[in-house]
Amino acid sequence: MTTATTPQTDPFALARALSGRHFYDGALRESASGRTFPVVNPATGEEVGAAAFGEAADVEAAVRAAAAAQKGWAKVGARDRGKLVARCGQLLSEHVEELARLIALETGKALRTESRVEASVLADAFTFFAGLGSELKGETVPYSPTVMTMTVREPIGVVGAILPWNVPLLLMALKIAPALVAGNTVVVKSAEEAPLAVLRVIELMGGILPPGVVNILSGFGPECGAPLVAHPKVGKVTFTGSVETGKIVYRTAAEKLIPVTLELGGKSPMIVMADADMDQAIAGAIAGMRFTRQGQSCTAASRIFVHDAVHDEFVARLKAKVDAMRMGDPLDEATDIGTIVSHQQMERVQGYIAIGKETDGAVAHVCSALPTDPRLAKGLFIQPHIFTGVTNDSRIAREEIFGPVCCVIRWTDYEEVIAAANDSEYGLAATVWTRDLKLALDAVNRLEAGFVQVNQNLVVQPNLSYGGVKASGLGKEASLESMLEHFTHKKTIMINMK
Ligand code: ADP
Repeated sequence: MTTATTPQTDPFALARALSGRHFYDGALRESASGRTFPVVNPATGEEVGAAAFGEAADVEAAVRAAAAAQKGWAKVGARDRGKLVARCGQLLSEHVEELARLIALETGKALRTESRVEASVLADAFTFFAGLGSELKGETVPYSPTVMTMTVREPIGVVGAILPWNVPLLLMALKIAPALVAGNTVVVKSAEEAPLAVLRVIELMGGILPPGVVNILSGFGPECGAPLVAHPKVGKVTFTGSVETGKIVYRTAAEKLIPVTLELGGKSPMIVMADADMDQAIAGAIAGMRFTRQGQSCTAASRIFVHDAVHDEFVARLKAKVDAMRMGDPLDEATDIGTIVSHQQMERVQGYIAIGKETDGAVAHVCSALPTDPRLAKGLFIQPHIFTGVTNDSRIAREEIFGPVCCVIRWTDYEEVIAAANDSEYGLAATVWTRDLKLALDAVNRLEAGFVQVNQNLVVQPNLSYGGVKASGLGKEASLESMLEHFTHKKTIMINMK
């Protein structure tokens, strides 16, 4: 069975059409057990579809298909693999609106500010990696004039890709596009909260790529993710999710001695100096905190250190800007901020808001207004909370909240603010806001993070290696380096010519 390949912009109809299916070995397929689990619109609480409940038997079938296809896929020339991946990018660019609506429906991310943006950059990620086939080069080594010595890059085999729910389309593309161009086949495990839009992408790609090259399963971590990581034929795992689950994945991979890439949490600092351009810094805080995505980002600039001289002005202006954002139905073009993804996340975020309010000296600035539309009465809306009066030692400044909650921390001493910014178990991203070039350079050199920016707060970009230090993870994504280092093995070859 397949759904139509022409774009379908009614997300409700598409959700129903995709319901209860995985995609592997070239077709949409039910779970071996026939079981499903509900897909719920977080803006209304309505069940809008169902996802196939993947278990070990489904993992076995999908991995078998991927393993059977891999040798043939590796024999397709690297540039020709790239051309097929480019065709996927082209097809996906024709489905932006469809994918945007579907991802908004299942995750609650606002269509205009978030979901359409994500769906638009998806195709770009495929197109970027598609052009890198001929970069899968080896080297010659001047070992001896009589021994021709060289290296070649070979695919690893079957790659298991485990996805989170916050930016599933883009993060899937950044995993599977380089893996495929490098000659691997993939089995994706979608996040239980966002199974449908990624399934649609794989279904569309499956119409272009040979059967078994791309496969996707939906299901829960223990039942579906764990057997995928543990499967003997999976030779590499690329994972984005929580630190706790990342460690479980790493332990299983260690037993098999296979490589992993782990993109985990963050508690990213943003340091605003007294001389910073305030307009730029406030816009950067809004973009960096991902307020339009309800703060559901591992890169969220959730610790905002603002110099005492500009602290009060910064807080007042930041609050006014967030107040002006409209919360509402994710599918409504007028909406700036949609919902939290699930009840579980909602409870977690509410728990942190309560902890914040109980913190000594804390002041909660509650922003924006909850929607009043009765259709959204059961929607998972949380007003953005900006906490002031807290220190970097408070729980809300130390633990990843993954919600619309940030701390603005007052500082006066430069050495102390750098130390505080680095005093975190995480090290994913950091930003510095100043007109002083020397200060900016000093700070970027000293900040412990994988991605450091000055006077801007961009999201991950093609060909900029992305990945954290400390508990934020292992390995890099999004770049040529990520394709070469994380999706190939280097083989050394010596040819004795004597
Ligand atoms: P979150 O708490 O944000 O949902 P998780 O780290 O639990 O983050 O989930 C990220 C992804 O990891 C999801 O696709 C989830 O199903 C998967 N997952 C959860 N537990 C496991 C596990 N034990 N093994 C493999 N994957 C898992």
